[in-house]
Amino acid sequence: MKEISRQDIETLLRLQEAETRIVQLEDSLRKDEKREADFLARQEAFQKGIDEQKKSFAVCIASCEEVEQEIRLIDQRITKSNETLRMVRSNKEYQALLRELEENRRRKEGIETSLLELMEEKDQLSDAIKQAETEFVQLQSQGRAEQEEIHAQLDRSRGLLEDYKAEQKQIGEQLDPGLMSLFKRIAKMNKGLAVAKVQDSVCMGCFMNIPPQMYIEVQRGKDLISCPQCSRILYYDEINQEI
Ligand SMILES: [Zn+2]
Repeated sequence: MKEISRQDIETLLRLQEAETRIVQLEDSLRKDEKREADFLARQEAFQKGIDEQKKSFAVCIASCEEVEQEIRLIDQRITKSNETLRMVRSNKEYQALLRELEENRRRKEGIETSLLELMEEKDQLSDAIKQAETEFVQLQSQGRAEQEEIHAQLDRSRGLLEDYKAEQKQIGEQLDPGLMSLFKRIAKMNKGLAVAKVQDSVCMGCFMNIPPQMYIEVQRGKDLISCPQCSRILYYDEINQEI
């Protein structure tokens, strides 16, 4: 069994304190980064929706223009037929022109109906775009405060994380490299908690009882003892046994 000094245990505890803060900070960094990414994704999706509506609007305008052009052509044909009508001599020609006129008028009516529908669609799209743009501006201004808060929080957390990592490195230098790598391995396995207090024969890391002989050895504090259940490095704190 590897020997351990009281000082090693104290160093391990300081290391543990820094590690706990690091794990908490990394967790809050992850959450804030996700919040930021979610916000940006929401904004992007909104913008994409507006772009789609604008595309439909452009298509609608082009269709309106096409239909209007067609109506103009039919009007020209009607005008021409009317002019010709005044000059025809034979009844056969006259009847044929009347049929042609009637047909053009019917076509024009049909096209005018679809133009009205298109114009209605155009108005609806225009209103929808205006509303979406207003909402987008609101979303952005509401989000700005939230985003700034997230940014500030991220900066703070990143700064603190660097401090704790530097502190942990400094503490770790006072420790035997073997003990340091053991600490890191156990911390990784146990979400950052590598050192656990033993209280009334119970490991406070996993809340399992440890064997009586092991409890005596932990109390003696001369050997490196790991919990048989969770592998955490065990220590005994005479002063704070009641806490
Ligand atoms: Zn344990």
